[in-house]
Amino acid sequence: MSEGRPAGSGGANDVPERSRAAPGTVYLVGAGPGDPDLLTVRAWRLLRTADVVLHDSLLREAILEDLPPSVEVLDVGKRGEVRTEQSAINDLLVERARAGDAVVRLKGGDPFVFGRGGEEAQHLAAHDVAFEVVPGVSSVLAAPGIAGIPLTHREHASRFTVITGHETPEKDGSSLDWDDIAGQIDRGGTLVILMGVRTLAENVRALRDHGVAADTPAAIVQRATWPRQAVVSGTLEDIVERTREADVKPPATTVVGEVLEVHDEIEDDLCPFEPA
Ligand code: SAH
Repeated sequence: MSEGRPAGSGGANDVPERSRAAPGTVYLVGAGPGDPDLLTVRAWRLLRTADVVLHDSLLREAILEDLPPSVEVLDVGKRGEVRTEQSAINDLLVERARAGDAVVRLKGGDPFVFGRGGEEAQHLAAHDVAFEVVPGVSSVLAAPGIAGIPLTHREHASRFTVITGHETPEKDGSSLDWDDIAGQIDRGGTLVILMGVRTLAENVRALRDHGVAADTPAAIVQRATWPRQAVVSGTLEDIVERTREADVKPPATTVVGEVLEVHDEIEDDLCPFEPA
């Protein structure tokens, strides 16, 4: 078995007929947080039977290893060889599907969580291209999960809220209601922030300004399921400093809330993550 291949599975020939990627169809596929073992079976099968895979930059190489030579792989990520504009990606999806290809559009995590999957689906629908959405394990769930941070717990949190870290109160036209977000943490909810490494200080300040206590636990999970995965924990008082000291870099996911007390209780017995 080579690296990157889930146990017990083979190549394209092992994919049952009914599970193969169909010509003229676009599959908006979630790749999960990074580790190939966290691909869904459907994603794994489609990847092996597609004519072309268009993927984002935020993917571990191991996911694209071992694809049959018949699969054309294009990096259309913002950091890829070709910096592709969203409109060009949309056009390429339509063009390849109309040419009769089975097209996999592969995105980190889940395609419908901060991944522009919704926009691509709108474009495909507007051009009458058949498409399917294949949900993936979003970093919303995977980053806290792998780090041993429950998002809900009967005694600590009955809901969680997910926001983008980009929409700090300083940003013009921010649609986030920080009073509401802060209130949810105060009432025992968990907050998950994506895309929030560079803006962590602003986001923490926004929570504090809207009344969240300084001793509220916070943690940041860097590169969940990648080599150099790291978890930094603290409180709203010191998480910015600790994150700076640990030199945390994107991608990372931040969690704020009382439920982190459970993490402190269980983390010693959590098996260390071994990247596939
Ligand atoms: N569609 C993706 C999210 C895209 S936005 C999903 O469902 O996961 C990109 C953000 O996701 C990053 O800024 C980071 O906050 C989070 N992220 C993606 N991969 C991650 C990983 N391996 N570890 C921690 N956070 C990750």
